[in-house]
Amino acid sequence: MYFTEQVLARQRAVGAQHVEQGRVLIIEDSRSLSSLMRHRLEKDFFCQVTQCASADTFREAMRNDGPFDVAVVDLNLPGAPDGEVLDSVVAAGIPAIVFTADFNRDLRERLLQKGVADYHVKNNEGAIDLVVSSVLRLLRNRDVGVLVVDDVASARTMLADLLGAQKFQVYEASTGKGALEILARQPHIELVITDYHMPDMDGYELTRRIRREHNGDRLRIIGISSSADRLLSASFLKAGANDFVYRPYVVEELQCRIQLNIETLAQLRQLRVAAFSDYLTGLPNRRHFFDEGPAQVAGRLERGDACCIAMLDIDHFKKLNDTHGHEIGDRVLQAVGTKLARGLEGSGHMLARLGGEEFSVLMLGLDIGEGAKLCERLRGDIENLRVALDDQDLSVTISVGLAEIAGRESFSNYLAAADQLLYLAKSYGRNRVYSETMLS
Ligand code: GH3
Ligand code: MG
Ligand code: MG
Repeated sequence: MYFTEQVLARQRAVGAQHVEQGRVLIIEDSRSLSSLMRHRLEKDFFCQVTQCASADTFREAMRNDGPFDVAVVDLNLPGAPDGEVLDSVVAAGIPAIVFTADFNRDLRERLLQKGVADYHVKNNEGAIDLVVSSVLRLLRNRDVGVLVVDDVASARTMLADLLGAQKFQVYEASTGKGALEILARQPHIELVITDYHMPDMDGYELTRRIRREHNGDRLRIIGISSSADRLLSASFLKAGANDFVYRPYVVEELQCRIQLNIETLAQLRQLRVAAFSDYLTGLPNRRHFFDEGPAQVAGRLERGDACCIAMLDIDHFKKLNDTHGHEIGDRVLQAVGTKLARGLEGSGHMLARLGGEEFSVLMLGLDIGEGAKLCERLRGDIENLRVALDDQDLSVTISVGLAEIAGRESFSNYLAAADQLLYLAKSYGRNRVYSETMLS
């Protein structure tokens, strides 16, 4: 949770909006619990929340405010003292998270039979966090594909139902060959749960074959079997599976193991994003630019397309920092980054913050004349940008150096050429674009 919140805070700082969205129905007669959950879901995660506190207001919400993506349900409510509202929520096909004061084994059994997505007990301060995590999980799972591989239809269906209750997109295969075919067609599958005994290829062999093409940092594998052979789990894990579960399994345990694997992938993804983006502006960083840029250029040049590269630098930025302070300087950098990104949105060109107040744009498929026009437009965008302070609006200008990429030199040499041309733009008075064609 902490990690997710850090990433979200960062995205908010750089102006990304509505990272997570969903319609959540909270049915809870304790006002304080209900409002706390609503606050967290709306403020931190951009959910749309409807609150109701009785059977009557629940019916009203269903009529007026639905459809809902997920519901948090108290079992004991005015007008519905024994879980009647939960039955209506389940019957309406809304994934339900039960939030209950009383809990025992019988109740657990009944909740599982009803197919609730999750349950939490109101017995500690952390309970609200757990409910919020469950809501977010169910909303995110909608984008995650999971493949179940088992030759026995009934076993497959049981797993598919369990995954369906967690709102995953579920795919089923009855053979190893079928599983590999589905995997090749559905790149959004993040988890494979595979049986061991199958006629065409055992789960162990399937795992090995999957691992030839898909690493554990993009695709997780969980082995499952009713075999009594205790060595099976070791073989699966050695072949590249991430986890193994013996049948019969405890539903909650399997759910937790599935979720841990999905969350690990999400965290790895966030780490990859963080490693390749600039903390302040959220733009791709220098490392990403140098990792991706050369290959992009090579591909374009091979097809006979033109490419050019621009260095952009904010004018007199040191003075702005000295006058208004570093924090305001940071806000200006963010505003400039966002403006440049908007100006290039959908173009396929690569923008990066290389460091300090320097940005670069790699223009793919543009010759130097077209590149100069684009740079001129970006220069104008920044000139017209206003950054609102408490008592005044700030404006800045940028200077730009633009070089054509012909393919004979290294990527960094072309960037250095753009930097030299930027220096000329500065020396000729700033707030201008200086392109290679202007050299006499
Ligand atoms: P010129 O017009 O010639 O480009 O002058 P300049 O003042 O913009 O250039 P100079 O390279 O002398 O100064 C750049 C300044 O940018 C100095 C540095 O303190 C500031 N800077 C670098 N990184 C950051 C940052 O992340 N945040 C803030 N606020 N300032 C930064
Ligand atoms: Mg500068
Ligand atoms: Mg500079």
